Amino acid sequence: MNYKKLAELYEEVSSTTKRLEKIDILSKFLKSLKKEDSNILYLIEGNIYPDYDERKTGISNQLAIKAISKATGTDSKKVVQEWKTVGDIGKVAEKLTKQKKQSTLHSHILTTEKVLENLRKLPELVGKGTVNKKLALITELLTSASPTEALYLVRTLIGDLRIGVQESTIKYGMLKAFFKNNKEYEDKIQRAIDNSNDLAIVFQIARKGKIKELEQIHLEVGKPIKAMLAQKAKDIEDAFKKLGKPMAIEYKYDGFRLLIHKANNKISLFTRSLENVTKQFPEVEEYIKKFIKGDSFILDSEAVGYDKKTKNYTDFQKISQRIRRKYHIEKLQKDLPVEINVFDVLSYNGKSQIDVPFKKRRKLIEKILTNHPYKLISSKHKITSSKKEVEEFYKKALKDKQEGIMMKNLEAEYKPGRRVGHMLKLKPETNELDLVITGGEWGAGKRAGWISSFILSCRKGNKYLEIGKVGTGILEKETENSKITFGNLTKLLKPLIIEEKGKSIKIKPKIVVTITYQDLQKSPNYESKWALRFPRITLLREDKPLSEIATLDEIEDDFKNSKHQNYRYG
Ligand code: AMP
Repeated sequence: MNYKKLAELYEEVSSTTKRLEKIDILSKFLKSLKKEDSNILYLIEGNIYPDYDERKTGISNQLAIKAISKATGTDSKKVVQEWKTVGDIGKVAEKLTKQKKQSTLHSHILTTEKVLENLRKLPELVGKGTVNKKLALITELLTSASPTEALYLVRTLIGDLRIGVQESTIKYGMLKAFFKNNKEYEDKIQRAIDNSNDLAIVFQIARKGKIKELEQIHLEVGKPIKAMLAQKAKDIEDAFKKLGKPMAIEYKYDGFRLLIHKANNKISLFTRSLENVTKQFPEVEEYIKKFIKGDSFILDSEAVGYDKKTKNYTDFQKISQRIRRKYHIEKLQKDLPVEINVFDVLSYNGKSQIDVPFKKRRKLIEKILTNHPYKLISSKHKITSSKKEVEEFYKKALKDKQEGIMMKNLEAEYKPGRRVGHMLKLKPETNELDLVITGGEWGAGKRAGWISSFILSCRKGNKYLEIGKVGTGILEKETENSKITFGNLTKLLKPLIIEEKGKSIKIKPKIVVTITYQDLQKSPNYESKWALRFPRITLLREDKPLSEIATLDEIEDDFKNSKHQNYRYG
């Protein structure tokens, strides 16, 4: 196919921010594609291979600049200069290509096949002279590109397509194009995508419009799949309500997720981001061969680190380097040993297990695996209907230095890549702070006469610095469980108002509240230079002195911890 047609699709999809319009544009485009064009689905997502494939173009901005300079005959210093003013290196390529095209005659026509052919050669190049070879491959494409084509080529090269299309947009595009937007089929397309992680394969079958054929796309051992994700439980009762009685409880190990594949006596280990880490864990390969029966399988597990002397479990941070480091593996293996805790099975000896109820999957694990503590074990697991038992189990998990517990519905299926309501986690709430109210805003309409939003501050020395604003989650009427109403807060704060400007007010720091929040981010808008995201007042702490509210230092520490959370694999 002509690359021009794809570039036009990119333009059209980018021209709207409306999801439904994007889906509509995509569905028309997908309808126009032939079977042989299926690789274009990778390009629509800005990739050159399926999601699970680690081969990416991986071109640096520097190399892109060189290529643009060469292809457009512009001095590379000027390209850099343009980049500084324009900001988007793709736009720079577009602009400079336009200027060049005015002075030269058009060269070749670029096809999507040629684009993919050259881009797919990039990750294969290693060793001496690589940079120049890469440069030649890219320049060849850019020389034949129109300005718009150059824009998207460069963005694809640097891995930043920016057209606002996600996997789900493509899913809905296919649903509309090939299944008359029949919502009943949405899950089936999703399942096919989850099982294969390959949009081109799903497209090839979906375009025939036969849902039965799509259901034949199964998991493949050796091909990485996305792990199933958990939701948070409010507490144990909440879990019983959502999961039913009895439910399964397990330790929530503080390590990293490891999906284990075995096929033809070959073991592959993948992280939750589908990264192949087999080479980094030779001992795990051995454990699997020795301690698990079966010719082929896919297992889900958590790898946890422990101290080689005390045998106490350690936290994720300690073993994280084992994932990254590709050298001195033997030493790392000795210094930072891991224990594999197997908690699920997705496929066994050629049979998919993802539709089998969890309790049966667990039984299968127990049948095929022999426990070898500090090497490989099945996760600590219990079936219970008793709240007390769950509490004891939870306490023990924390005592054993684990993060908390997982609670699972015994009848549930395994859904790759989904955050599901049938697997819940419970861990100590840490996103909690005591802060003081230092300002607010008078409400309007229904809330006239009430202070309807509240500015929260933390402490630095004896100064109070703003860190967030809360307006939602406050009640109109008092309930048995909460006194946090607009009326009550207004009553408490009104005498403390020290300044009013229009609707906004400053309040003398006195009223301390406990808040929970989702996360913390840097922000120029507040004096503290931080902002709490989604804070909610959960308690009035009239008993708490100002000296006991959270300090900026403590909050910054929290941030460091949450940053660690973001980088974790587990
Ligand atoms: P979170 O990372 O807080 O969303 O919690 C979910 C993660 O807990 C999973 O992705 C696993 O890596 C980890 N985990 C630890 N132990 C278990 C277990 N027994 N069952 C399922 N997931 C577990």
